[in-house]
Amino acid sequence: MKTGYITHPDFLAHDTGDDHPESPKRLSVLDEHILGQAHSPLQDQLKIITPKRNSALYRWISEIHIPSYIDALKNKIPKTGRIYLDADTPYSPGSLKAAEMAVSGVLTAVDQVMDGTLNNAFCALRPPGHHAEPDRAMGFCLFNNVAVAARYIQKKYHLPKVFIIDWDVHHGNGTQNAFYDDASVFYLSSHQFPCYPGTGSTKENGRGLGEGTTLNLPLRAGTNDAELLRIFEKVLPDAFATFQPDFILISAGFDAHRDDPLAALEITDTGFAEMTNIVLSLAETHCQGRIVSCLEGGYHLHALAQSVKKHLSVLSKP
Ligand SMILES: [Zn+2]
Repeated sequence: MKTGYITHPDFLAHDTGDDHPESPKRLSVLDEHILGQAHSPLQDQLKIITPKRNSALYRWISEIHIPSYIDALKNKIPKTGRIYLDADTPYSPGSLKAAEMAVSGVLTAVDQVMDGTLNNAFCALRPPGHHAEPDRAMGFCLFNNVAVAARYIQKKYHLPKVFIIDWDVHHGNGTQNAFYDDASVFYLSSHQFPCYPGTGSTKENGRGLGEGTTLNLPLRAGTNDAELLRIFEKVLPDAFATFQPDFILISAGFDAHRDDPLAALEITDTGFAEMTNIVLSLAETHCQGRIVSCLEGGYHLHALAQSVKKHLSVLSKP
């Protein structure tokens, strides 16, 4: 059994323009560093998967996104160039195709973890998803890949409880909102605060039945590996023990890296490896090791490649 590495050429079809940080180069660099070295010890532990489009794709996307938003995306595809869905979110002729394959990729990863083909998986996808709201695109994100996957796990596999860990440096407002009053999906986010998008204070902890299953861990600028790991070690074991998840999804942004140009945390690739280690051991204790990790942010190309490599080497350790 191996760790899946989900990759697809359609992910590159989302053309954000030359100066946009969320560029196709992010994935080219990952593929080059991770797949470019034949017979590296890491590559021998990975199963490279090119997903197919999910046959009921919009049935699953509709679990999170409302029909008028989905229709607007289908109707707005530009013939050339790009339009902007919000100030930061370009939309090009190939963007919908990429977003559809991103969701399909995560669902494929879930399927292969569930049928025992994989131990766990990392989806090297774009566009990212955690800022996407049920009714709109936001912050480089079109469909909320991880949120759709959470509902897929619950409805297709009848696993009642999904734990989402979002360590992207930005708060995942879209994911939080999707499950804010829902006690069956735990949303835990560590993020720089205050920072884009402005949400994610400790006071935001869920509503109604969902009170207590949203947990925000806001971090001051300059937070380093030791400080973040201390918080993870203090908070995660209790949250897992109380919630008893059946499946873990990681919104794996790597923009908390010290070299990242979009934020000001001081996490290193070793820090990401340690965070992965904590989550992996909790997954083994609570949910048979079931983890699907999805790329969110991470905009310094070299730091991204090194961090993903470390993340994968922990996920795939024999
Ligand atoms: Zn981010």
